[in-house]
Amino acid sequence: MVPGARLIVLGKQGAGKGTQCVRLSHHYVIPHISTGDMLRGAVKMQTPLGVEAKRFMDEGELVPDELLLGLVDERLAQDDTIGRGFVLDGFPRTVKQAEALDRLLAPLELDTVLDLEVPRDLVLARLASRRVCVDCGTNYSTSTPPKVDWICDVCGGEVVQRPDDTEAAIKRRLDLYDTETAPLVQWYAASGRLAAVDGTGTPDDVTERLVRTIDEHRQPRPTSRGTGA
Ligand code: AMP
Repeated sequence: MVPGARLIVLGKQGAGKGTQCVRLSHHYVIPHISTGDMLRGAVKMQTPLGVEAKRFMDEGELVPDELLLGLVDERLAQDDTIGRGFVLDGFPRTVKQAEALDRLLAPLELDTVLDLEVPRDLVLARLASRRVCVDCGTNYSTSTPPKVDWICDVCGGEVVQRPDDTEAAIKRRLDLYDTETAPLVQWYAASGRLAAVDGTGTPDDVTERLVRTIDEHRQPRPTSRGTGA
């Protein structure tokens, strides 16, 4: 395995992006950059941006680009991302954001854009049972809780249901995925950068599929001369 990669993981809310991005970040030794986590951090710190973003997040709406793009730009300019790459989780969510990302990265390019495919009824069930640590963002569920009474195994923080995991906000986020992010999947597919990966099954199964797909994309493809034909 060669460390370093520039990856994007797309997928509906509840597709398992958070869990898989943490695993990919360990596997390829790259920072996991989640715009949702960055925004929740700003909300918790009550920064002016966090206060502004919170009302969009609570409704399941997208935070406007004027608020978000500066945060992403700042994060991508840090030494670890420049040196080793990243796995982006929750960004981009629209074609406009993807175009902005291409501009921010140039002349560097993405290695792979992964689309984690999970049917809507399965993500609805996963979101209803999702629980998350308020401090470090580690994901749990009602069927895989922390070892001790809703105290995070990783950092000791409180494990709760996300305030935007209400039925109305979940529905709004899934509708937005269909109208805003599904076209983005087509947009990346049209430029040959997309790899669809089946997101059903155990977390280990999904990680294995993702790593196999990423490594296939990163390996130099044999030329017609190199095939020995
Ligand atoms: P997530 O944790 O990815 O589900 O994000 C939680 C919330 O943060 C979303 O429902 C949006 O309100 C906001 N958010 C996260 N990423 C983005 C993004 N790329 N564009 C706009 N809003 C975002």
